[in-house]
Amino acid sequence: MHLGNALDIPRSVAVCPYCQGDLSFEVEEWDAVTGVPTETGVMVLCTNERDPQINHFDMPYVYWLPMTIQVYAWIVQEGIRVER
Ligand SMILES: [Zn+2]
Repeated sequence: MHLGNALDIPRSVAVCPYCQGDLSFEVEEWDAVTGVPTETGVMVLCTNERDPQINHFDMPYVYWLPMTIQVYAWIVQEGIRVER
């Protein structure tokens, strides 16, 4: 993947825990040698995140965080790397 591009996350991997919407991710930090994103460097985004009708911030440790762990495992499994 290239920097600054958000990649779609397949619905079979994860959907938004708040609204069941489609997710994508961006990478902000990665291993300089291998290009593999670091776990804390992956930013998951929901397509409905800007919808004021939907609360995306309620108890993130219960709802959002477990989903991001799942997404990160998928990124590693798929061998997704940052190319420059
Ligand atoms: Zn959502």
